[in-house]
Amino acid sequence: MYSEILNFLPADRLLFHEEMKKHTTFKIGGPADIMVLPRDEEDVRILMAFCQQRDIPVFVFGMGSNLLVRDGGIRGIVIKLGDNLDAVEVMGEEIQAQAGVKLSTLARIASFHALSGLEFAEGIPGSLGGALAMNAGAYNGEMQAIVMEATAIGPDGSLKTFQADEMEFNYRHSVFQTNGYFVLSARLQLVYDERDEIERRMQEFARRREEKQPLDKPSAGSTFKRPQGFYVGPMLEELGLKGYGIGGAQVSGKHAGFIINTGNATASDVLQLIGHIQQKARERFGVDLQTEIRVVGEE
Ligand SMILES: Cc1cc2nc3c(=O)[nH]c(=O)nc-3n(C[C@H](O)[C@H](O)[C@H](O)COP(=O)(O)OP(=O)(O)OC[C@H]3O[C@@H](n4cnc5c(N)ncnc54)[C@H](O)[C@@H]3O)c2cc1C
Repeated sequence: MYSEILNFLPADRLLFHEEMKKHTTFKIGGPADIMVLPRDEEDVRILMAFCQQRDIPVFVFGMGSNLLVRDGGIRGIVIKLGDNLDAVEVMGEEIQAQAGVKLSTLARIASFHALSGLEFAEGIPGSLGGALAMNAGAYNGEMQAIVMEATAIGPDGSLKTFQADEMEFNYRHSVFQTNGYFVLSARLQLVYDERDEIERRMQEFARRREEKQPLDKPSAGSTFKRPQGFYVGPMLEELGLKGYGIGGAQVSGKHAGFIINTGNATASDVLQLIGHIQQKARERFGVDLQTEIRVVGEE
């Protein structure tokens, strides 16, 4: 397989048995068989068609900020779009951007052009593609409010443009979690506003994050989706789980909604801790906590 891929990708764009922990904000995750750092959309297209013909599994990720990769790693091809496809074009109140651009970079570009709508994204450490897949949001903002359309690539390498109403957005959910398409670029609709006001809002959101979230520790953000009628942080505090740990995984003492890696956590530590929390929440509150973080790979 290696020599065949070299027919269309240079060797410096391929990483073998690459530890996913080097590419996730949790700093956890076993090896990817082959990680590909595409140069452009054409690389992704050819690779997808190649993998489908040979029945090789393909996984895509952006910045790895919502991922828990199991300790056995990921088989097949893993495409890293974050930091790779990151072109941005501003056209009046619209922004056209590739999926690999950092969300925070996009928020700053928008603010520079006096465009409002992306302030919430300041401090979300993901890529545009990951943010669309997850319908990322914060402080009353959400991707679904600003996306007009996205171009994505299907398992056979064909391109399709999705309109906003085809993306099945829901709380931390979009169609890209299930339809096998990888987002390559998106067009966002923003609105002009006072630049100072936009920057003030971004600084305020950054301040709130700094105050409440364990930003100095590796994590994948909020571990669980918010269940109806509850807030996860206070719920875990009531269960006495703040600061509780298994192995190197710990419920953050700063914000119980986050599980942090205290240094040498394995995915297995985190999964055991998640299971423990879910059991306690079920017993005490009758609530089934669903993970917001995406768990992938093999044991
Ligand atoms: C400190 C911290 C704070 C956070 N705060 C927030 C917050 O306030 N709000 C919030 O919503 N999230 C938050 N997150 C979670 C995370 O940053 C977001 O979900 C982010 O949008 C994920 O982007 P990513 O590129 O890192 O995705 P990844 O983690 O790389 O991938 C996440 C999922 O998206 C899929 N995916 C990635 N790229 C694509 C693509 N191009 N096409 C199709 N599928 C794709 C992956 O396969 C995976 O299933 C936080 C995380 C951390 C560590």
